[in-house]
Amino acid sequence: MNTLFEQAKPVLETIKQHGHDAYFVGGAVRDYLMEREIHDVDITTSATPDEIEAIFPKTVPIGKEHGTINVVMEDGQYEVTTFRAEGDYDDHRRPNEVYFVRDLYEDVKRRDFTMNAIAMDSDYQLHDYFHGQRDIEQCVIKTVGPATERFEEDALRILRGLRFQAQLGFSIAPETYEAMTQLIDQLAYLSVERIVVELQKLIAGKHVAESYQYMLTLNAFHYMPFFEHFNMDALTVDRPVAFNDFIALLFVQQSPLAALSELKISNKDKQYINRLAEVINQLPEISKKSTLRRFVYDYGKDLILHALGLSDVMEKNNIVTPSPLIINTQSIGETSAQLPISKRQDLAVTGKDLLDHTERKGGPWVKDALYQLENAVINNQVHNSKDLLLEWMDKHVEIQ
Ligand code: ATP
Ligand code: MG
Repeated sequence: MNTLFEQAKPVLETIKQHGHDAYFVGGAVRDYLMEREIHDVDITTSATPDEIEAIFPKTVPIGKEHGTINVVMEDGQYEVTTFRAEGDYDDHRRPNEVYFVRDLYEDVKRRDFTMNAIAMDSDYQLHDYFHGQRDIEQCVIKTVGPATERFEEDALRILRGLRFQAQLGFSIAPETYEAMTQLIDQLAYLSVERIVVELQKLIAGKHVAESYQYMLTLNAFHYMPFFEHFNMDALTVDRPVAFNDFIALLFVQQSPLAALSELKISNKDKQYINRLAEVINQLPEISKKSTLRRFVYDYGKDLILHALGLSDVMEKNNIVTPSPLIINTQSIGETSAQLPISKRQDLAVTGKDLLDHTERKGGPWVKDALYQLENAVINNQVHNSKDLLLEWMDKHVEIQ
């Protein structure tokens, strides 16, 4: 018994009451059998998307052309996908056509690995056509059917195999690994979006040390956009790291040899990576209290502490780490707590105040003056109040 499956059970039962088959399948069943925490429950069914929409009062057609409908229940949404078989592949990444079938066997046969091809019905009975349970017991990642064929159909499966290795610590079956070595160059056919999804999970996987070595031995990065520009052999990853941190470390170690836009990640992720790389680059240069104050003000305590948490990875990768005498959790925390202001908006004057006060035209001097005013406040040279700031400016800031 498992609460998530119990919650989702009415979905299976309702489908069955309408004369169709329905099973739990994929990662949830695998994780359940491994006694790992289950995060989302996938349901596979003989009912077509139209039939699912007719059965349930509330649905969302999230991927109807591929057979996926979200069924909205009181306690959450469940992804229900019609049994599918896949047509020919000729670009190594997507089947030319997907067609719906009425047979569970056909559906699980197109799945990537035996451990992901186990179906379970609402009575917790397993339908395991490819010895997935045995492979889970033996901790082996093995393709459903001949590995070369399956990787030729969709090269993403190579990367998925390696990311499951990183997450689960399983070994890769010899035939499956052999096919990986033969077909690794086909990663070049994949879209960067699909690659990034798997890499994010791989790099953060508990057993990444081993998988990362496989990635290097297979020369996998050589066939990926962005990464092809870096010397990945020079980067050591021997513990899980967040994907964005991994990219920032790469930038610091080797400088940004490729644009982040190649990764097609969000602007928020790009900004984070750039800022973290700046922090890591600047950390060792901070030797004075005043620069430390400005640094904590500019980047914030959290990001800097996060960077310090990567010190072990930095050391392994010959990235200069800060002196622990000057920069440590305590000094960062204290500096942050002592800052009279934490962002430009906290400053008691704005650019407009400076213009009004000086009766001058705008120009680069405004930005420069605000910067100096911030510094003065941060270093307790002047109290953060409008009159005092303007007075301080008249005395200390030279306007070009
Ligand atoms: P996770 O726990 O990370 O979600 P998962 O096994 O559920 O792992 P998903 O990407 O959510 O992985 O895919 C759900 C299922 O769909 C898989 O378990 C597998 O059966 C099938 N699948 C996904 N991608 C592929 C693929 N490229 N080729 C064949 N089958 C796939
Ligand atoms: Mg999943």
